[in-house]
Amino acid sequence: MSHRISKKVQEIKPSGIRRFFDLILGRKDIISLGVGEPDFQVPWKIREEMIYALEKGYTSYTSNVGLYELRNEISKYYRKFGVDAASENIIITTGVSEAIDLALRAVIDDGDKVLIPDPSYVSYKPLTILAGGVPVSIPTLPDFKLNYEKISQYAKNTSPKILVINYPANPTGISYRRKELEEIADAAIEYDLIIISDEIYAELTYSFDHVSIASLNGMEDRCIVMNGFSKAFAMTGLRIGYVIAPEDIVSAMLKIHQYSMLCAPIISQIGALEALRNAKDDLEKMKAKYMRRRNFFVKKLKEFLEVRKPDGAFYVFPNIKNTGLGSEEFAEKLLMEKNVAVVPGNAFGECGEGFIRCSYATTMEKLKEAIDRIEKFVRNIDA
Ligand code: PLP
Repeated sequence: MSHRISKKVQEIKPSGIRRFFDLILGRKDIISLGVGEPDFQVPWKIREEMIYALEKGYTSYTSNVGLYELRNEISKYYRKFGVDAASENIIITTGVSEAIDLALRAVIDDGDKVLIPDPSYVSYKPLTILAGGVPVSIPTLPDFKLNYEKISQYAKNTSPKILVINYPANPTGISYRRKELEEIADAAIEYDLIIISDEIYAELTYSFDHVSIASLNGMEDRCIVMNGFSKAFAMTGLRIGYVIAPEDIVSAMLKIHQYSMLCAPIISQIGALEALRNAKDDLEKMKAKYMRRRNFFVKKLKEFLEVRKPDGAFYVFPNIKNTGLGSEEFAEKLLMEKNVAVVPGNAFGECGEGFIRCSYATTMEKLKEAIDRIEKFVRNIDA
């Protein structure tokens, strides 16, 4: 413990994903099903638009909230998920990562409780702690979904202020249909919760249409919806996302954003505008490929591990409990013996123990090779 470092920072752990990936640095012949990053290039027309923008010298700050044209386009775009937000309710952020941070910091007072599903994406818990809040995990086993009972059980005793949801979900790939969202909304109303809804994988929903929880009756005023371009348009390194929130919360978030970030990068904002206006066909092509990979990978995995078919995103979360190995041991041995990298499920919370996360954002050829190696590894443990 160092007295120079803030207690809050000392309290949070480094990301379990990154820690594991330090192990594979510099190693050859590794097939990585590890990082949650599309293997596609940013569609050419988006790159071209950004190149033109650079040539024209668009290198200045934009307004703190982001380009009006982009906010206006997002406002129209989100109608497809049922939300009719005014552009005044939108801030362009440097990725959903910043949006999560802003939302938590804008709403949390010291000691406020934040309900977070377990397992879930790695940043919700540490960012809650950094904002002065107290994370309260809701175990989601066996189906990895939240419902009225699970939320009630934890909301009853802790008087939380916020509920975080993410669907389609990282790391499990589960998503919610309208009926299931209505149950979550009922709990939010009953316990007077603000919902942070991370919908970054909305476009990558395969089994049914994505519905934003903010579109349900009475929910728009208690929802902070966030989405971005990293996953759907393969724009991870461009760091661009956005948040849609009620007026008071947007103003509070903007106060932080204008001091801590000023604005999202202008070139990325221009690329995002092109993505929404003209890259729907590229998106559909990538989505079709992800879906084919999901179907192939899950079918093969089912031959030797218990696995639930994910509804969306690009992750599969098989149960490895029958192998007798813990998540970390499984992932480390698989890496050392078969050169396949996956993420131990416990990097996403205690309920992830006994599972591994495999990302299928890689080529079919690599997926085929990876599944062969995983099968041999698992069957060898059984022997
Ligand atoms: N939210 C979820 C659920 C994610 O899986 C990720 C990235 O893996 C992010 C947010 C971060 O997104 P961005 O690149 O927009 O910051």
